[in-house]
Amino acid sequence: MVRETKLYDVIGVSPNASEAELKKAYRKLAMKYHPDKNPNDQAANDKFKELSAAYEVLSDAKKRKIYDEGGIQALKEGGGREGHGGAFDIFDMFFGGGGRRHQPHKGKDVVHQLKVSLEDMYNGTTKRLSLQKNVICDKCKGRGGKEGAVSKCMTCRGTGIQVKVHQIGPGMMQQIQSMCRECDGKGERINAKDRCKTCNGRKVTKQSKILEVHVDKGMNEGHKVMFHGEGDQEPDLEPGDVVIVLVEKEHDIFHRQNEDLLMKMEISITEALCGFQRVIRTLDDREIVITTYPGEVIKYGDIKCVLGEGMPIYRDPFEKGRLVIQFKINFPPDRWTSPENIKKLEKLLPPKDEVIVTDNMEEVTLHEFDENHKSHNSRNAYDEDDDEGHPRGMQCQTH
Ligand SMILES: [Zn+2]
Ligand SMILES: [Zn+2]
Repeated sequence: MVRETKLYDVIGVSPNASEAELKKAYRKLAMKYHPDKNPNDQAANDKFKELSAAYEVLSDAKKRKIYDEGGIQALKEGGGREGHGGAFDIFDMFFGGGGRRHQPHKGKDVVHQLKVSLEDMYNGTTKRLSLQKNVICDKCKGRGGKEGAVSKCMTCRGTGIQVKVHQIGPGMMQQIQSMCRECDGKGERINAKDRCKTCNGRKVTKQSKILEVHVDKGMNEGHKVMFHGEGDQEPDLEPGDVVIVLVEKEHDIFHRQNEDLLMKMEISITEALCGFQRVIRTLDDREIVITTYPGEVIKYGDIKCVLGEGMPIYRDPFEKGRLVIQFKINFPPDRWTSPENIKKLEKLLPPKDEVIVTDNMEEVTLHEFDENHKSHNSRNAYDEDDDEGHPRGMQCQTH
């Protein structure tokens, strides 16, 4: 569901238009209204700018999503705002004001993070969040004191600003503005005895408020849930919004990648070669069984997937991504079985290459590799178990 269609209307496509359709429609209009073709036509030039601004948003998947969900207002306030100016100035020109600069009468938005488990993002949930906020004092109705008790601050004449003029040189004056200390910049004062006892003249009181945050199936990290007008209240100011930003908690088993769930699975060499079954507990607490068949070989690092067992798609939760499993094969330790068994195993496994060692070959020893062991000069450690009597440092020389 799209909140507003203005930008789509400008380009002349429906909100369901694909990227290609959008591009095509944009190009056609951009050609028509291009300033080179309409050098003296202000209306065409404006139309061209409007078109560019709309396309800048809709051609960017991220910005398009923000716009679809929250309209132009959301673009101005949120994620789409990468650079100031640019498209947004044009927005103000063509799509009406409403940007921050034009809204001195709205309070600040309050942004909170909400940690959500992967289970909750899979199943959907409602989280109750308790927030402290300023509300207009009930007792004095936001006046700060008895009716008529509030008077203009005489020091700053109600402006909240004190202006001091210093002479910094002959004929040179410097003007310094600072917040009025008498009234803390409020521009008014209330006699101590007339001050509202409830808010102590602050006009607002703290109140805790429970917000219910609906986490829908398939919501992503970074998803913003807006509570319009739930920000701090202040007299003569429209309260800002509370914005709850979802943060995904790490999961022990699953790692989310868009709609897919990734997991690692360790299996033994026997399972890798002879087939196996494994039970996986899903995020909605079902048990699913995966099976490989005898003869199917799973190699180290192999990746397999189960369709429809990934994350639900946001706003289309019956559709799900994939469960992607990457395998790690565990080999048995050295000397895990008798030499006789190894011989038997060898007969069962694919044949190996036989090497004929001739006189002009030199047989060398294969050691465990130690990453921290550096140059060829420090091979002394190996010399200990070499009792053939070669002089030190000779046996590893290259010929
Ligand atoms: Zn009060
Ligand atoms: Zn003052």
